Amino acid sequence: MTTSTMFTKILIANRGEIACRIIKTARRMGIHTVAVYSDADKNALHVTMADEAVYIGASPSRDSYLVAEKVIEAAKTTGAQAIHPGYGFLSENADFCRMCAENDITFIGPPVGAIEAMGSKSAAKSIMEKANVPLVPGYHGDDQSEAVLKKAADGMGYPVLLKATAGGGGKGMRQIWSSDEFTEGLAAAKREATSSFGDDTMLVEKYLTQPRHVEIQVFCDNHDNAVYLFERDCSVQRRHQKVIEEAPAPGMTDELRDQMGQAAIQSAKAIGYQGAGTVEFLLDVDGSFYFMEMNTRLQVEHPVTELITGQDLVEWQLRVASGETLPKTQAELAIKGHALEARIYAEDPDNDFLPATGKLSFLVPPIESEHVRVDTGVRQGDEVSVYYDPMIAKLIVWDESREKALQRMAKALAEYRVSGVTTNIDFLYNLATSAPFVNAELDTGFIEKHNDIIFHKDQRALANELPMAALYLVLSRAEQAKKVAAKTNDPFSPWNATNAWRMNEANAQSIVLNHSDTDYEVVIEQQRQGSDSYYLVQIGDQSYDCQGNIDRNALYFNINGYRSCAQIAHNEQQISLYRPDGVFNFNQVLPDLGDAGEDAGHGGLAAPMNGTMVDVLVSAGDKVEKDQPLVIMEAMKMEHTIKAPSAGVVTALFYQPGDMVDGGAELLSFEADE
Ligand code: ADP
Repeated sequence: MTTSTMFTKILIANRGEIACRIIKTARRMGIHTVAVYSDADKNALHVTMADEAVYIGASPSRDSYLVAEKVIEAAKTTGAQAIHPGYGFLSENADFCRMCAENDITFIGPPVGAIEAMGSKSAAKSIMEKANVPLVPGYHGDDQSEAVLKKAADGMGYPVLLKATAGGGGKGMRQIWSSDEFTEGLAAAKREATSSFGDDTMLVEKYLTQPRHVEIQVFCDNHDNAVYLFERDCSVQRRHQKVIEEAPAPGMTDELRDQMGQAAIQSAKAIGYQGAGTVEFLLDVDGSFYFMEMNTRLQVEHPVTELITGQDLVEWQLRVASGETLPKTQAELAIKGHALEARIYAEDPDNDFLPATGKLSFLVPPIESEHVRVDTGVRQGDEVSVYYDPMIAKLIVWDESREKALQRMAKALAEYRVSGVTTNIDFLYNLATSAPFVNAELDTGFIEKHNDIIFHKDQRALANELPMAALYLVLSRAEQAKKVAAKTNDPFSPWNATNAWRMNEANAQSIVLNHSDTDYEVVIEQQRQGSDSYYLVQIGDQSYDCQGNIDRNALYFNINGYRSCAQIAHNEQQISLYRPDGVFNFNQVLPDLGDAGEDAGHGGLAAPMNGTMVDVLVSAGDKVEKDQPLVIMEAMKMEHTIKAPSAGVVTALFYQPGDMVDGGAELLSFEADE
């Protein structure tokens, strides 16, 4: 018997999907929840879902979600007994964990010592070495003389990887391909490490050229019990960030799974771990695996583990943190079926994954079922702001086999409907349906290697989609005009404007629709046959007889006798047609109105996200060409190049390399050429 008391109220020191996900479990367990929020999040989903919410400051996270004192204060004033930190923000912050203890609040996570032990890469490796956990061959000693480091590298053979021991987020790593490059490479790596972390201590590792990233979910309670909940394969990464994760790892044998599981438990025990943790390994082509790091929190990708084990890991966290023993023993845990997770982001894969911001003007996720789960923190109408990680949702699917789960994933991605911001959904679809992914040819270089198939543009031939989009436009315009006419005769109503519509003849209108970089001129003429009205749509030498009506977001149509329907998202000039085989995007090209863009060319270029200035590539007064790189920012482990929107002159620069930049802040001022 354990003497534990479950919390009655917890505070969630996070936002977005993970805050919502934690609230769901807490609610199911009858635990009251307290949310915290910043200015940007005052109407956020996690705030409405929680029983109570406390305002903790301005939008930039360093003024709100990262301020330990404010979070602790919020817990104290609301009487929350425990704080769940989610992932990111304060989740791996030893000082925050210590402050919780000082204030008699339970930190739902590991003890301070475990967080600290994993803080330095070389210290972590030393601990793991003592615990007999396999490490990537390498050197992580104190003697930092070049001779010693080089001898270690020469000894293990090239390529090697130099890593800053204080590094993180994929930074401060450098590959060295031969002995001749060593001296120069070391100097560069040390410079980088000094400027990023203020510490140039290096470790040397054998660089594995085709590893897989396989991680083990572990769980430990405060009663000396530890289990592993199997593995996740997170090999599909872009710049060391996970894109699609799955469980179990394709090709994993029971024997290797057990070895890795035991190694992970050893790692956790070596640092007195409690709660949920993940031990990340590199798995080499020959089946050898090596400890990489331990993440001392719940991972983004934990749902795939939940779906194959039937366990709720947040519930486990709450039970363990309140002093209960682990809900299951190792023998009671088993893998059932296969799960995949795709991270749906507001970002532009064709522009170096630049984070996208804007209003989610249309948002319809696939319907959830035992096969499809959507973890999200946003609803239709919400803004994806510059302040936080632009994740829209995690789409998780489950089925009995990998093959079936992949089919579920493809279907669910095709059904995921987002308009208003650019997303990576098409990219994920291409990835998840690509032959090498289907064949599980996984390693951490997957995306680079298969670049050509994953990034290909939409090359599907258009069939009836152009007349559908045109019919939709003409019908919705007629409907709006009717509504407005019923209400008012306002001559300034946008529905009375005709600038987008050139009238050719009495009933004919001409519009230009762009699809996949091609403009199509479409002429629509209203026709009557007796009491029946229909539209004749002319595109090049093709003509279509069209009839239809709009009901909410759906267009019901009859085009040349073919009847069906399409779901439509319409946002200013953008029209997205959702058909069973995916989305077709169109842009209505408006005639040049002469004064349009009057001030578009002047003023500033704003930072697309919170981040750090990495490099400034131009000087004030420089003339630049359209798309010329101007500055490089870094955020969420990734570098983003901000390019000139048109030819023009950079008139002033406001940031230096190394400066922190708030999302939305003016980076430079720019004057476009006439
Ligand atoms: P960080 O803490 O900066 O994220 P990690 O040590 O966790 O750095 O490594 C991040 C990624 O870098 C891994 O997921 C893997 O893709 C790659 N990586 C790290 N070490 C090696 C290695 N020795 N050989 C090959 N790739 C590596």
